[in-house]
Formats: sequence, C-alpha cells, structure tokens
Amino acid sequence: MHQVGFGELGKHGSLINPDLGANFRPGFITTDLPLAYDAPIAFGVQDYCLSCNLCTNNCPADAIPTEFIMTEGVRRWLTDIDKCYTVSRLRAEYCHICVDVCPYIHKENGDAGAREVYKAYMKDRKSEGYKTPKRNKDGTA
Ligand code: SF4
Ligand code: SF4
Repeated sequence: MHQVGFGELGKHGSLINPDLGANFRPGFITTDLPLAYDAPIAFGVQDYCLSCNLCTNNCPADAIPTEFIMTEGVRRWLTDIDKCYTVSRLRAEYCHICVDVCPYIHKENGDAGAREVYKAYMKDRKSEGYKTPKRNKDGTA
C-alpha cells in the first residue's frame, strides 16, 4: 500500500493515510485489468515520528522500537511481533493502543471531530491515573 501512495509508514508499523490516519481497515480485490497506479507519497509522517514516540512510550508490550532500518529509501520501525501478539492478538481484547494514541488520526486531515475524540481519549486515560511512560531516545526507561 505504501508503494501505491496510500500513505506513509508510521513508527507503529501501520500505514498512515492523509485523511484516515492509521485508523482504517483496507479492503482488496484482485484483477488482471491493466491499471495505472500512483507513486509513494510523503507528507511529513516519518520525520514527525523521529521526535514523537507516543506509540513507543504507550505500547504495553514494549514492542515498538525507537531505532529504524532503511529499505528501499523508506524508514521502517520493525515492531517486535512476538512481544506485540502476546498483548494484542492473543487476548480477547485487542490492544490497538499504538494507533489510538497516534496524533495522525486528526493531525493531517484537520478532522475536528477526530481531534476531540483523541483529546477526550487522552484525558480519560490521564484522569484514570495513566501517565505516558518517559523513555530515553535509545528506548531505555
Ligand atoms: S497493538 Fe498494542 S502491543 Fe501491539 S504494538 Fe500496538 S500498542 Fe504495542
Ligand atoms: S504515535 Fe507518533 S511516533 Fe508513533 S506513528 Fe504516530 S506520529 Fe509516529
């Protein structure tokens, strides 16, 4: 999806779309029709991720690294799937925190409603005593 310009890869490993953030579920169809496809896009996500760390700091499994690798000119933060799955896929309640705390749910699309949902969500978490863990840039607590 990155290659056809659907968005930029965020530090949380999910693609971030300019309108939808990372909070979407793609659907696919297969076809042998000859189709033109778009090019990758960049709208500042990966640069923003370098100093954001909200997903890394809020991941209960400590699965999102601060360091990235480069492949085909694209930064990729490789989520530790073994750590993530024990908290997300292997529980009745799906985790999803890394996407929920990501400001790109409203940042680029200017969606006032999504911004309010995000702010209310963060406020609720704080009122329940939650504080975003602070981590050093190298990922240590
Ligand atoms: S889904 Fe949960 S455990 Fe997995 S990377 Fe995101 S925040 Fe971490
Ligand atoms: S929470 Fe911050 S660091 Fe993580 S993907 Fe979103 S913008 Fe990037």
